[in-house]
Amino acid sequence: MGLLPGLGALVSGNEVAVASLKVGGELCLSFNASVADHRQPVLATLRALLLFDIDGVIRDVGRSYRLAVTETVAHFSGWRPTPEIIDALKAEGCWNNDWDASLELLRRRQSRQPTLQLPSRDAVVEVFSGLYFGRDAGGTVSQQPHRWTGLIRQESLLVNGAFFDALSEAAIGWGFVSGAEPPSARHVLEERLGLQQPPLVAMGDAPDKPDPTGLLQLAETLAATGGVPLPHLPMGYVGDTVADVLTVTHARRQQPRLRCKALAVTPPHVAAATAAVRAAYQQQLLAAGADVVIGATAELDPGRVLRLLSCQE
Ligand SMILES: [Mg+2]
Repeated sequence: MGLLPGLGALVSGNEVAVASLKVGGELCLSFNASVADHRQPVLATLRALLLFDIDGVIRDVGRSYRLAVTETVAHFSGWRPTPEIIDALKAEGCWNNDWDASLELLRRRQSRQPTLQLPSRDAVVEVFSGLYFGRDAGGTVSQQPHRWTGLIRQESLLVNGAFFDALSEAAIGWGFVSGAEPPSARHVLEERLGLQQPPLVAMGDAPDKPDPTGLLQLAETLAATGGVPLPHLPMGYVGDTVADVLTVTHARRQQPRLRCKALAVTPPHVAAATAAVRAAYQQQLLAAGADVVIGATAELDPGRVLRLLSCQE
């Protein structure tokens, strides 16, 4: 996965800058000296781990990925699923991949629209990617961030770089386990948030959630780098869907000594909905096994994180 190439030497800012330039050719493209320098804690003092989903947790994807699902389905069927219909599908816990979620919505639509021809998965991916990233003049999906013209440009951040600095200062290690495509995930973490070589498991690095493999691999790597056995380390995973919560419960089932809590957060499109919609969404997360539901990711200041992970809140 190419994780953590510079994590062992996070003492001097200069050292880190040089290391990142040498190690990550791809990462270097986005390296920008003017970007604030947000790093992991000095890991000898690691007190806890906090891993994050990205979509709906770190960035608002209500007008990007979620809209791409709606418009992809509309492209093939003429029908636009509402946010509630997408949420109901996601509440089943097994549709974390938005390409597969789009195809499944089309498949279910066939019962009402018998003439609907189901596209191939590749055709869904092609349309979805064009909507999300945008297309070059020749019609191919844009590959370079500076050429992206699609819905990805409509994403707002839900936290800032200082949020991760505060975690680092409290000796809370952090990382990301997301089903987003690697270029999209790296773009938001490195270029928009200014995180240096963020520990990341993205689409294709591990099986899709709720399979816990990616979460466990990243947690093991961070714990080992910090010199703390993972079972000794209080840990939380912050996610906004039933699949995220199930990822934690499956991880605990695989490793009963794991001290990992499911810290669920309501995504922005739910936080902005009616109290009844919010309550129903939160109830789904709790029913799936969430240890707590938080109103917004930004509420997770270090003091609250440590209290939550130590069962004191
Ligand atoms: Mg999410």
